[in-house]
Amino acid sequence: MAETHQPRSRLGVSNYVFAVLGAMMFAAAIFIITVLEDMRIERKQRSQLISMTNSFVSVFAQNRGENAPVPATFRRLGIEHFSNSNIMDNSETRTTVRMPGLPGLELATVEQNERLRQIIRDFQETGNFVPIEEHRLESGRLIGRTIYPSVANNQSCVECHNRIFDSEIFKLDDVMGAFIVESDLSPHALRNLKYAIGAFFVALAGFLMLTSRERKRMKEIVLGLRARVRLEKLKREAEEREVFLRSHDSLTGLPNRAMLMDRLDKDMVASKHAPVILALVDVDDFKLVNDELGHAAGDALLIEIANRLQHIAKSANGLAARLGGDEFAVTIEPSDDMASPNALGAALKAIFAENFQFEHNRIQPKCSIGISCTSDIIGRSRSELLKAADSALYEAKAKGKNTFQVFNEEIKESIVRRDHLAARLPTAIRTGEISVALQPKLCLETGTLAGFEALARWTCDGERIAPIEFVGIAETIGIIRELDLAVLKAAAEFSVGEKNRNGREVPISANICALHFRAGSLIADVERILNLTGLDPKLLTLEITESVVVENWDRALKTFEALRRWGVRISLDDFGTGYSSLSYLRSLKFEEIKIDREFVVDIATNPDTKFIFDNIVNLAHGLGSTIVVEGIETEVQARIVKAANACVGQGYLFGRPFSVEQAKTFMSALDRMAA
Ligand code: C2E
Ligand code: MG
Ligand code: MG
Repeated sequence: MAETHQPRSRLGVSNYVFAVLGAMMFAAAIFIITVLEDMRIERKQRSQLISMTNSFVSVFAQNRGENAPVPATFRRLGIEHFSNSNIMDNSETRTTVRMPGLPGLELATVEQNERLRQIIRDFQETGNFVPIEEHRLESGRLIGRTIYPSVANNQSCVECHNRIFDSEIFKLDDVMGAFIVESDLSPHALRNLKYAIGAFFVALAGFLMLTSRERKRMKEIVLGLRARVRLEKLKREAEEREVFLRSHDSLTGLPNRAMLMDRLDKDMVASKHAPVILALVDVDDFKLVNDELGHAAGDALLIEIANRLQHIAKSANGLAARLGGDEFAVTIEPSDDMASPNALGAALKAIFAENFQFEHNRIQPKCSIGISCTSDIIGRSRSELLKAADSALYEAKAKGKNTFQVFNEEIKESIVRRDHLAARLPTAIRTGEISVALQPKLCLETGTLAGFEALARWTCDGERIAPIEFVGIAETIGIIRELDLAVLKAAAEFSVGEKNRNGREVPISANICALHFRAGSLIADVERILNLTGLDPKLLTLEITESVVVENWDRALKTFEALRRWGVRISLDDFGTGYSSLSYLRSLKFEEIKIDREFVVDIATNPDTKFIFDNIVNLAHGLGSTIVVEGIETEVQARIVKAANACVGQGYLFGRPFSVEQAKTFMSALDRMAA
């Protein structure tokens, strides 16, 4: 506030000062001009007075006879007469005339003023008779004066004066004294002063008016200028912010992906041989933090991680960036402290060891880290470095997360392998090289068939590829939808074939990947397969994982409702391994819950597992869902599971995933056993 008031008051004071000074100058000018004019008029009047007297005296002298003496006193009286007459009437100015002369003359008045006496002496000595005009301040009064030498201008003057002195001291043209005609201009000056004072106030008022208008105008200009400056500032800030946002992440303030790419390019060009190290950091289970503690906690965690990463990057002259979501990257120039990818990995892991407090919650951030170094890759390209770090990250996650993995030969080979499989997989799906395996699900109570789970199988160049591997590749290269639908179609054809062959209704389950679900085409895809194969929707169960629900609850609910309207059942696969949130279990009402084999492996030996298992079963019963227990391999496990009241079992004990023909044989065997 103080900042805004100060210039305004400075401006006001200076305006007043200017107004007063201006008015004073104006008044002074008026005063000077009027005084000068008065002086001019008075001077003119004095010279008129003298010339009138001269005319009068010369006429008088002529009348008296050519040589008749006319006393100088006569002149003085003439001047006095004229000055007091109406012709020269001037109520303010008093014009007087003095005639100081030599002592003893009839004009015996001796001039007291030494200066004037000197002037008269000068007239006498120099013979220069030019009248003198002057204006002087004397005893507080302004005096206008004309000094006119009194000259013996004819013989009669000389004779008369010589006679008085009885000597021959005067000659023709001698100065005998002087007429001093004075006007007192003080009353004029006083009047002029009054005018000037009046003029001062009028001018002051005028100037004040002008300055107030000017001030207003100035104020407007200043305000306008200030607004413009502010606007410019805002514009500049907005532009800077835009530039910043183009290269930075708005939440954490870290450089973004584009800036990281620039930095990598520069580092690689700048030092042709020095190694460049890159770490990709992925926050483990970040979704959990968002879901359980809210987005504010998630944001705070990301900011905290960003700060910690930046600290590491700065200490090694590097750069930390946020690539998006919960993915970060750090690139460093190897230094004494952090000379190797392993050292960077250890340093990064260490910064995640410390807890992070958000409100009343203590969060233990966990990250998977993939690290690559230019010295470990072929060629010195940015994309290769990124790809290598990404593969290492993939490995770190596969190793169980919360760890770091440096890119090495093994990973290099797995990349080659993955690239090879990725190139083959699309054709394998299209040509039917991908087959379906059917694993039976048995009712534990009766031992009857509850259905088959359809599992994808791929033998590539004679090698059986694990579904976990090729499903992951299919997800990465964006063909998981095609894979899921190929398996679903094959399973549906099998079920419809059984129905057509011997009227048996065989329920089938197919896995639907989260990515496929996210594509948004699932309802249409299922409808198309149902139409294409003629499968009764009631015989179809779709197995989805918890991530599908967690990612988009609303979409999940809507999709389930649409599928359920046809009679399709929804099964929650691998329950217990993911988020296991009870709230979505209650809301989404799955027809089937599949308890992961993790809870079966040591169910016979670990009471804790048994305890959790029992509770999950009770929970699922409470929700009205069918319970399918995965991974039953032994009789003991089967017994425990059955005793716990779980309804359906799936596992190697009952049957490994079969080919279609084996599945048929299996069903016949079951029929025989039942008979
Ligand atoms: P899943 O859906 O949980 O399938 C069950 C997995 O457990 C199958 O592994 C099955 O062979 C295995 N399994 C069944 N009983 C036992 C047992 O007693 N012991 C052991 N150790 N394992 C048992 P598989 O076929 O290797 O499939 C692995 C995962 O790959 C599946 O887990 C599923 O998530 C995914 N998958 C398989 N086929 C497809 C598919 O067509 N589409 C999608 N999206 N995913 C698929
Ligand atoms: Mg499954
Ligand atoms: Mg499963």
